Amino acid sequence: KGKQKKHVIPRSNVQFADIGGQERAKKELKEALDFLVYKDKIEQYGIRPIKGVLLTGPPGTGKTLMAKAAANYTNSAFVAASGSQFVEMYVGVGAQRVRELFRDVKAMAEKNGQDSAIIFIDEIDVIGGKRDGQQQREYDQTLNQLLTEMDGVATSDKPRVLVMAATNRKDMLDAALLRPGRFDRHISVDLPDKPAREQILTIHTANKPLGSDVVLEKIAQETFGFSGAQLESVANEAAIYAMREGNEMIEARHFGYAVDKVMMGEKVDREASL
Ligand code: ATP
Repeated sequence: KGKQKKHVIPRSNVQFADIGGQERAKKELKEALDFLVYKDKIEQYGIRPIKGVLLTGPPGTGKTLMAKAAANYTNSAFVAASGSQFVEMYVGVGAQRVRELFRDVKAMAEKNGQDSAIIFIDEIDVIGGKRDGQQQREYDQTLNQLLTEMDGVATSDKPRVLVMAATNRKDMLDAALLRPGRFDRHISVDLPDKPAREQILTIHTANKPLGSDVVLEKIAQETFGFSGAQLESVANEAAIYAMREGNEMIEARHFGYAVDKVMMGEKVDREASL
């Protein structure tokens, strides 16, 4: 993930219903998206358009899913990139990539006859992190290009462009990014609570043969602190254990192993990074 040279243009059909929990975040996001959909009204009332939505929260909580669902919900053209893809040895390359992102998504919208376009930038902190004086010139150019493009977005544009960005570290962002007319809508996407964990497990086991002793509520109970991405891994690992055993059904014990494995994996990762 995030290793591609150019931005990727994933064709996806993620819907809000495919995202477990996150009810408040989904509601806030849909409200922001109304500004993209009802743009005639926005113009009529002279309301400043929303140009940027910032999704904040820990890794694996569904920020990318939210952006993809937003694109489908609004029938927008969609392109995605990661902040780390803009980091280059040569000054100016990052800024060039930003220009390309805007150009490409507009071209895509035009080609598909769509009135709106969404650009998703994951790890925005890589290009939009706080400045510490010197050294950061390449990033500055990239960031400045992004701000210039966003400042240039007007309500009357066709297609209307909305930039969505995600970060795990909002406190690290340069204030210039957060000014009105830029990323001024912030939506926090948090770790799932127990009912949300159960929903996420339900989503990720829908296509799996579950044994009669599997109680998702109980697994949700035992996975306090797990992200959506980790819960997806639990469902997947449990299926792998069952398959290796040649068991037709995925049973409670397979989920037990899977929970331990995902928990251990995290621990190993943490120790390796110390
Ligand atoms: P990162 O900050 O690491 O980029 P993210 O918040 O963008 O993470 P996603 O990439 O959206 O997280 O989620 C990774 C995967 O985890 C998804 O493809 C999905 O399988 C699963 N997942 C995460 N959150 C949810 C959720 N709320 N409901 C269902 N699946 C989820």
